[in-house]
Amino acid sequence: MQDEEKTKQQLIDELKEMRLQVGELKKSEAERRQIEGALRESEERYRKMVNAVTGYTYTVVINEGEAISTQHSMGCYPITGYKPEDYQSDPYLWYSMILPDDRMIAVNAIGNILKGLPIPPVEHRIIRKDGSVLWIRNTLVPYYGEEGHLIKYDGLIENISERKQAEEALRFSEEKFRTIAETAVDAIISANSSGDIIFWNMSAQKIFGYSEDEIIGRSLRMLMPERYREDHQKGIERMKTQAESKYFGRFTEMHGLRKDGSEFPLELSVAMWKVDREIYFSAIIRDITKRKKLERELEKNATTDMLTQAFNRTKFDEIIKREIERVKRYAHPLSMIMFDIDYFKHVNDQHGHTVGDYILKTLTRVVKENLREIDALVRWGGEEFTIIAPETKLELAKILAERIRVAVEHYPFEIVGRITISLGVTQFRKQDTEDTFITRTDDALYTAKRRGRNRTEVSQ
Ligand code: GH3
Ligand code: MG
Ligand code: MG
Repeated sequence: MQDEEKTKQQLIDELKEMRLQVGELKKSEAERRQIEGALRESEERYRKMVNAVTGYTYTVVINEGEAISTQHSMGCYPITGYKPEDYQSDPYLWYSMILPDDRMIAVNAIGNILKGLPIPPVEHRIIRKDGSVLWIRNTLVPYYGEEGHLIKYDGLIENISERKQAEEALRFSEEKFRTIAETAVDAIISANSSGDIIFWNMSAQKIFGYSEDEIIGRSLRMLMPERYREDHQKGIERMKTQAESKYFGRFTEMHGLRKDGSEFPLELSVAMWKVDREIYFSAIIRDITKRKKLERELEKNATTDMLTQAFNRTKFDEIIKREIERVKRYAHPLSMIMFDIDYFKHVNDQHGHTVGDYILKTLTRVVKENLREIDALVRWGGEEFTIIAPETKLELAKILAERIRVAVEHYPFEIVGRITISLGVTQFRKQDTEDTFITRTDDALYTAKRRGRNRTEVSQ
């Protein structure tokens, strides 16, 4: 029984002991985890630190042109993945590490050192122990013995991969921009905050006539006629007050100044951009000479009679409305002259339609020569014309009409010889409408015809 008791007690003790051990085990498991965590953390810290290391040094001792010993600093490990001792055990490790395409760069540099030539730092790629490729910069500092032989050189290896990547990204974006700029039909010009030109594309050269060499560093003012320069300067000052890069929009109705001093109409888009608080301007400029000419031609075709080049009825409507408006507003005088060729049917009958057309064209020119800048000559229809004479009282309009009549009468028309016209003149009255004004002028012309032609009649 006693034995039994003892055994029981023993078992309890053993169990207690086991529990304790399990507790210890649990404790050590937690400790292990803790240690592992700390280890991971320190590894991470080390990895981060190592990644931050950007260079290491090494020394190569030379005897009779041969490397006899190599000493690398610990910094070689994070950069190349090799330890200093790896370089000692394999004297050609430095060479096999270089990307095959780049090996000649390093070989030439060492060749130059041996010859005593100065060498700038060299840049090439290496293959790290893990197989990844890295750009490095190798700066060599040689030491020569008394007889001028190379006895040793120190080297500094720097990791320049990030810089190379940034350079590559920059080259890519530069190339992209350059290609766009060079193929653009429009002139692309950039300037700094002083208005000095810093970029000039091929189209700018074609449009303005200056080569890149002639214009870079010169002022934008050279590209615009004198009259724009003040406003341009104010515009620049206004843009400078903008905090952010900004597109300023499109401007037309401006002119550019070519190298040869000639002007041309242009369309301009301007933007301002900022880099490191420096301000720059970019402009895209289009030469719109052709477009303007086309617009003028279209406008002219829409408002001009093709045969005589006098205005047509569409233009008459526009002018008469505008002038009547002015008369009503400012009480300025306004007169109208209507004329018709006398016996024009005979011209066509006797000499044919072509001669008739020639008469109409020539007559228009003769009449225009006797008009003032403000007068408008309109082909009313057939061989009938109207002259709108702004700022003109009846007496003056009559003088103008007579001058035209006499000029036509004395003009020596080919084939036909003499041609005469009959004219009717009136001045706009307060109570007039467009219709009554026209009708009264037409009546005066009719009277001139009735009273014998080649004369001027006034409708009082
Ligand atoms: P009047 O002195 O009464 O004006 O006699 P007229 O013969 O000139 O008579 P009217 O003014 O009625 O005649 C107009 C003529 O003008 C008719 C037409 O043959 C001619 N005519 C109208 N337009 C043109 C044109 O574009 N070209 C040519 N060649 N003739 C035209
Ligand atoms: Mg007639
Ligand atoms: Mg007629």
